Order: sequence, then C-alpha cells, then structure tokens
Amino acid sequence: MIWRRVTLLPIASDMSKAAGRRQRILERITRAAMLARRDPADVKLIAVSKGRTVDQIEALILEGQQDFGENRVQEALSKWPQLLARYPEVRLHGIGRLQSNKAPEALRLFNIIHSLDRQSLLDALVKEAGKTDRFPEIYVQVNIGEEEQKGGCAIGATGAITEAVRESPFFLAGLMAIPPVGVEPAPYFALLAKLGRSLDVAGLSMGMSGDFEAAVMLGATVVRIGTALFED
Ligand SMILES: *Cc1c(COP(=O)(O)O)cnc(C)c1O
Repeated sequence: MIWRRVTLLPIASDMSKAAGRRQRILERITRAAMLARRDPADVKLIAVSKGRTVDQIEALILEGQQDFGENRVQEALSKWPQLLARYPEVRLHGIGRLQSNKAPEALRLFNIIHSLDRQSLLDALVKEAGKTDRFPEIYVQVNIGEEEQKGGCAIGATGAITEAVRESPFFLAGLMAIPPVGVEPAPYFALLAKLGRSLDVAGLSMGMSGDFEAAVMLGATVVRIGTALFED
C-alpha cells in the first residue's frame, strides 16, 4: 500500500493549495468590496480555467467553486462535457472572442457569454438558440481602451448593441471589458461603470488576476481570475 501514499499525497497537497489560493482571493474581494461600502455578496468570482486540466478544475469544484470561464470553444469542448455531466450545478462562462460559426457549440457549452460585440454574432446566436432551446445570459463586450486589435464593440456602439440584446430572447446581464495592458486600469473600470449606469445595465464583468481589487472598488459584479487561482 505504500504506492498509494506516495501517489495520493501530492494530489492532496495540490488540492489544498488551490483551496488556499481561492480563499485568499475571496478574502481580497471581500476587503475591496467593504472598502467601497459594497456588499461582497454582489461580486461573483469566475475561475478562468483556460490551459488548466480537468483535475485542476475538479479540485476547485470540490472546494465549492461553481462558476468557470473558458476562452476557446474548442478547448472547452475537450474538457467540459464530462465535467458538466458530473457537476450539473456548475455554470460555464464563455469569455473569449467568438466566431459566428461557433454559435452552435457555444450555445451548447456556455450558460453565460461575456463577449457579444456585434450584431452579426447576436443574429447567429439567436438563430441557433431557437434550434437548441439554449438561452445564455449575455454581457456586451466593450473595447474600452479603443484598441485596434482588441475584441469588443466601439464605446459609441454600446447603446445600440445592448438595445439589440434587450430585444432578443436573451437576458442582458451587463457589460464586459478588458483594459489595455501595461497602463493603470482604474480609469477604464470607471469608464465601463459609467457606461453601464448611462445604459441602465446592472452587471459589470471586469477585473482579472492583476487588477481585480480596483475593479471591485469601482463596481465589478463579476471578476474573471485565472493565474492567481491556479498558480503560486
Ligand atoms: C485569461 C483571461 C482572464 C484571466 O486572466 P488572469 O490574468 O489569468 O487572471 C480573464 N478574462 C479573459 C477574457 C481572459 O482571456
């Protein structure tokens, strides 16, 4: 039975490390929310599991993590059908750029889509949703730093796209953005929050490993965290 000990111990310690990292992040979210006089229960943690294994994901599910995010449909298809069959309470969020021709797979996988940024993608999703009877919640992604290469709609187009989602069969959950890399993110979080207020949109999906406390202080209702959850 000695082999059991040597093979099981490292797995157990990986699991408790993941649990510790998750607890510390939840504590940091709570502290940031309280500093801003917000209710910590209004901020949801999405574990971004791109590039992580089924075992790493399962360890977090067993710690009570129920919301996960994946960037790419193909990778999500390789890991999630088996996990979702075992853990039907888990909610999977599509957070990466989405091509319209991936709409059928995206609908089958994702309960929530954070990267709706154009009418043609909305049209493709609506068309497929009728066939599959799957109606994800939608966040409209905004190109908040007005960067050439970034996903997201233009700031000026956000009103029209959120209106189109409101008129669709999908629930408009909020706005999502990724600030430019290498500059202070707070002004971009503040801008997304202002845009959300002006459009009367409740949810704000913003904040990642390096900047989630600022995002929470500025109104994030959803933070998407990968590295800080899975790596020391
Ligand atoms: C990878 C990714 C994240 C998580 O980033 P970390 O810095 O690893 O926390 C969040 N949102 C999106 C859209 C991502 O692609």
